[in-house]
Amino acid sequence: MTAALAPSTAAPCEGANLREQVERLQGLLDGALAGVWEWNVQTGAMSVNQRWAEMLGHTLDELQPISVQTWADRLQHDDREQVKRRWREHFDGQRAHCEIESRLRHHDGHWVWVKNCGHVATRTAEGHPLLVVGTQMDITERKALEHQLFHARHTDRLTGLPNRAMLLQRLERAVASLQANPNERFALLFVDFDRFKNVNATWGHAAGDQLLIQIADRLRGALGAGDVRNGGNTVASFGGDEFVVLLPDARTPEDALRVAKRLLAVFAEPYPLAGQEVHSSASIGIAMAEPDGRSADDLLRDADIAMVEAKRAGRATAVFFDPCMNARLERDLAVEEALRQAIERREFSLVYQPIIDLETGAVIAVEALLRWTHPELGEVEPTEFVPLAEDSSLILPIGEWVLRAACQHWMGWWRMLGDKAPPLLSVNVSRMQMLQADRLVAHVLAVLAETGMPANRLQLEVTERELTRDPLTGRALMRRLRDLGVRLAMDDFGTGGSTLTCLRDHPFDLVKIDKSLLNGIADNPDVLAVVHATVTLIENLGLASVAEGVEDAAQIGILQAIGCRYAQGYLFALPMSPDEVATLPLAAAATA
Ligand code: C2E
Ligand code: MG
Ligand code: MG
Repeated sequence: MTAALAPSTAAPCEGANLREQVERLQGLLDGALAGVWEWNVQTGAMSVNQRWAEMLGHTLDELQPISVQTWADRLQHDDREQVKRRWREHFDGQRAHCEIESRLRHHDGHWVWVKNCGHVATRTAEGHPLLVVGTQMDITERKALEHQLFHARHTDRLTGLPNRAMLLQRLERAVASLQANPNERFALLFVDFDRFKNVNATWGHAAGDQLLIQIADRLRGALGAGDVRNGGNTVASFGGDEFVVLLPDARTPEDALRVAKRLLAVFAEPYPLAGQEVHSSASIGIAMAEPDGRSADDLLRDADIAMVEAKRAGRATAVFFDPCMNARLERDLAVEEALRQAIERREFSLVYQPIIDLETGAVIAVEALLRWTHPELGEVEPTEFVPLAEDSSLILPIGEWVLRAACQHWMGWWRMLGDKAPPLLSVNVSRMQMLQADRLVAHVLAVLAETGMPANRLQLEVTERELTRDPLTGRALMRRLRDLGVRLAMDDFGTGGSTLTCLRDHPFDLVKIDKSLLNGIADNPDVLAVVHATVTLIENLGLASVAEGVEDAAQIGILQAIGCRYAQGYLFALPMSPDEVATLPLAAAATA
């Protein structure tokens, strides 16, 4: 100790006893590397020990004479208010001690975190504080550790973005602030990447991680460069391919939509991944926070629900939350839950819709179409449950059930009718099944062996949309299936935005032109011209064209005239039971 601390006159001990005690204490404090100080509140003069000065990168002599100003000058600006308040509270008797953590500027210019503990040792006759004594500890390391811990606890490890916990904190703060200031409306965006599972399944998880990192960078770039907060926006990673964006300045739906559109555009740019350019897109759900008492959790749920609607609306789009979406979501959950038991409970059945030769009227194939009747939900449309089954991977066992049951039916017809059985059996294969290529190939092989179904009588329908999404692996799978001897049909052609050249690259036998493309052929010459060109190209490539969903007799003549070979639709036959398929040759004989 080079600067003696004046013994307090009001200390509990007296004289030599007291001095001894103070010295013992000083020794202890020096050993503990604590700064010790005494402050005369009336004059502002301070005395401190060597350690106090060292903490700030000085010798004691350099700092002399030391006053409370020496201290205050070094105090970080943001901490001043709190420090003053704490002392005031102690001086007023609200706190027995004053304990404060604050930052002081080191001689080098960096900030040192210190913790001060002090109390009034003597007061004036009027009761004003006179001498205050205390200690000061360097807590910089502890603070750094705390910061690291906080960072780890609030940051997504992969992307470095704030995580769910951090977002919830900020969202709760925004909601509280909205309640106090009803004008401070804001928007919450729930972002979910479309078919991200496919990326992992196709390129592996490491590539999936790379894509997420790129997405996070784009989000940061589009909303402000800062990791944590920039322009008030928060971008948080919600785990997996989900991100949540808090836009405190988006006061109106238009503001929010503008940002959402910007994000959609940024996400649509190709991503360099594993030496290729990968395309991706996101669906965005938007919840506007109004002063209506909704909690942070409510808002998140609403934005999430709107995101699911965005997916339903065809993906790569943004949708605002609407309360009626809740009912839809509940229905989806009920359907998905019921689907889990549908195979076991034998609730599925198959119907078959013939594909007709437009020239001869003969049935060239029947397409198996799945039907589901649930005891409470009743008949659920495939257009409703197939997408739900795909999202939950339930389509894998369901698709396998369909293939086996259809092959069993066909073998039944074959045994009964021989050559009069429908020449081909067409079975739909979902995108999920195509992604699990090994499983699909093995299952097709197993079912052919098990049922005795001839491979060349089986035709698998895959949708154009799925093939164009990932042409390389799609092509490899098509070849493997082709090697098994089965036939391949492209379903719903004209809905996926692929070019006709894609047909040349895949070993298809048949192309089914989607109903939506045929809708205008009878009354719109432009549509007719497009369909005509399409049919011509398909046939020129050596493939057979099928018109789907023909309902209108006026279309038949046109389709024949433009060279379309086959057709399917309610006009020719509704989907029918397996027993009805068995009577088809009788009907044909009757009309012949
Ligand atoms: P898809 O494979 O394109 O099947 C044709 C759909 O069009 C069937 O609807 C059929 O009933 C309907 N359709 C046939 N003719 C007409 C017509 O003249 N007018 C109209 N408006 N529609 C017609 P469905 O059975 O409701 O199936 C819808 C979709 O569900 C199918 O489209 C297919 O994508 C999917 N799906 C059905 N069964 C299965 C299955 O076993 N597995 C898989 N993965 N998907 C299936
Ligand atoms: Mg089909
Ligand atoms: Mg179709």
